[in-house]
Amino acid sequence: MFKALVVEKDDSGYRTSLQSIDEAQLPEGDVTIQVSWSTLNYKDGLAITGKGPVVRKFPLTPGIDMAGTVIESSHSRWKEGDKVLLNGWGVGESHSGCLAQKARVKGDWLVPLPDKFSERQAMSIGTAGYTAMLCVMALEKHGIKPTDGEILVTGANGGVGSIAIILLKKMGYTVIASTGRLEEEAHLKSLGAAGIIDRKELSEPGRPLGKERWAGVVDSVGSTTLANACSTTKYAGAIAACGLAGGADLPVTVMPFILRGITLYGIDSVMAPLERRIEAWGRLAELLDISKLESNTTEVGLEEAIAVGPQLLEGKVRGRVVVDVNR
Ligand code: NDP
Repeated sequence: MFKALVVEKDDSGYRTSLQSIDEAQLPEGDVTIQVSWSTLNYKDGLAITGKGPVVRKFPLTPGIDMAGTVIESSHSRWKEGDKVLLNGWGVGESHSGCLAQKARVKGDWLVPLPDKFSERQAMSIGTAGYTAMLCVMALEKHGIKPTDGEILVTGANGGVGSIAIILLKKMGYTVIASTGRLEEEAHLKSLGAAGIIDRKELSEPGRPLGKERWAGVVDSVGSTTLANACSTTKYAGAIAACGLAGGADLPVTVMPFILRGITLYGIDSVMAPLERRIEAWGRLAELLDISKLESNTTEVGLEEAIAVGPQLLEGKVRGRVVVDVNR
């Protein structure tokens, strides 16, 4: 038996609870993992609360991220004792997930834990941090250089936003953080932001073309914020869009695209191919300052994770939350 969070939905409603599970109930897969740490992303908040249709079958263990040790494998790449991590692939959505002491998954989904990181540190990065890296890689591949000007990061106090700030600063970019929590200015500057703006400046409908300001943008908010980011990006600049914390719509015109030649990159972490994941985790190991990661992280136990779900969706969590699945 092992401990796991379980999401259930039936006539009495949608609920998440801590349960003891028999190993026989683990899903199909060729690698079984002793999970040591998991984490909470925005999507896990949706799964725990049922506020979004993330969980596609019931009962199911939520949790899209884990770090742990292989305890059983029939996969050619993995053997007992290997340290691994997992992000996405539908785990915690349609395949029972990582907010548990054990998990069984396809070996093809796993990435070796980079030597630089402990399992806890890998989870203080998690899908949010790995997605921030994918966003930054898109801007870099676009050819944006630190001398081109300021980079806007929206949803700055969130998981994606906060780690994007740390990465961009380390790469020499000037980062402007957009946030609804102006009281976190000192924290955002300690991560590497050169300045902050009130997210209200971006959340009201703007003009089709605004004053050119950003060389590049990492956006985890979507909606009017993303539209305004597009209309104020400088000629030939780029935006990496990965999220919808402010809404899934995009009320933008074609003007910034056809008059300023800007590029909008869509970033997906869930089904990203293994090579891109390995590249992203390698870059994270090269760039991330562990002390900044620590100051951006809070820790909870497995059962406590249930109460953090709604707080995440209300934008009340700062940075990243790691989950010790053994307490
Ligand atoms: P968090 O909840 O950690 O952060 C989201 C941040 O967005 C909040 O901290 C807040 O920042 C800001 N925010 C919240 N609500 C609003 C609002 N109504 N309007 C404007 N800003 C708001 O989430 P994550 O960083 O983990 O994820 C961010 C988004 O990215 C989510 O939509 C998530 O689903 C998506 N995502 C997508 C991935 C992909 O593969 N495409 C992977 C990972 C995440 P502040 O207080 O500073 O304003």
